[in-house]
Amino acid sequence: MASQKLSDKVAVVTGGSRGIGRAASEALARHGASVVVNYCGTADADLDKADAADDVVRGIEGTGGKAVAHEADIADEPAARGLIDRAIDEYGHIDILVNNAGICPSIDFLEMPIESFDRVHAVNLRGAFICSQQAAQHMVRQDNGGRIVTVSSISALVGGSYQTHYCPTKSGLHSLMQSLAIVLGPHGITCNSVGPGEIDTDMNRTIPNYDEISVQLGKRIPLGRVGQPEDIADPIVFLASDDARYVNGAFLLIDGGMFVNLQ
Ligand code: NAD
Repeated sequence: MASQKLSDKVAVVTGGSRGIGRAASEALARHGASVVVNYCGTADADLDKADAADDVVRGIEGTGGKAVAHEADIADEPAARGLIDRAIDEYGHIDILVNNAGICPSIDFLEMPIESFDRVHAVNLRGAFICSQQAAQHMVRQDNGGRIVTVSSISALVGGSYQTHYCPTKSGLHSLMQSLAIVLGPHGITCNSVGPGEIDTDMNRTIPNYDEISVQLGKRIPLGRVGQPEDIADPIVFLASDDARYVNGAFLLIDGGMFVNLQ
């Protein structure tokens, strides 16, 4: 059995029903947190059905944990604020926010409609801003500290030819956490980001021949494989826990050594 280092804590995970978000929801619950598992039914997130969220909730409840599913498109301000408020309605407080939801449709820069740029920013960066602000307002009022952990990316550090809309949101998220670390640190609320490298999730599985590609990519990664969602979820638990009490404004790259393997 995992440690109960998050017992009595309440967490909200955006995009929590699949991929990294699902693994984070399950890992937080395994360590004792009650979790609001956000899912979204909009066209660009439509793999994320209520069924998937219910499945995560059932799994958590089946092991004695507490969780509830909540639909919200975090690009929609009232919906995003309502998502955070659900934690208060359901469990009475909020202690941990994991800004995980994100989209990355592959689009050629020269052909990209501005609507695609706007939507990626609205979900990835604006959505995280709104959720962080709403969560922080509760945390400051509660006066018991808190944790905001944001899923940025290795794409905050490197460019991507089909990701000219996405990469700036990921460096923006890191920058947002740095600024929030300053604003919220005096309240005992830490704000950090993780930077996954190549992780085997639906986001990448939309790429044709991904199984083959991931094997080739794995050869360029010193640890010899692409990452799994759980490889990101465990460091998220660390940053959400008291073990990381003096970590604030940090960016933790979690890529198996891919970034340093340049030569
Ligand atoms: P995924 O596609 O499986 O998960 C993305 C999640 O975000 C889904 O649950 C989706 O429904 C949710 N989402 C999308 N739009 C939403 C919206 N408007 N409102 C609420 N939820 C919404 O992919 P993933 O790899 O698990 O992605 C999770 C995070 O990890 C993303 O922020 C992504 O940018 C980041 N990331 C992924 C990789 C990777 O290689 N997979 C690498 C670096 C960073």
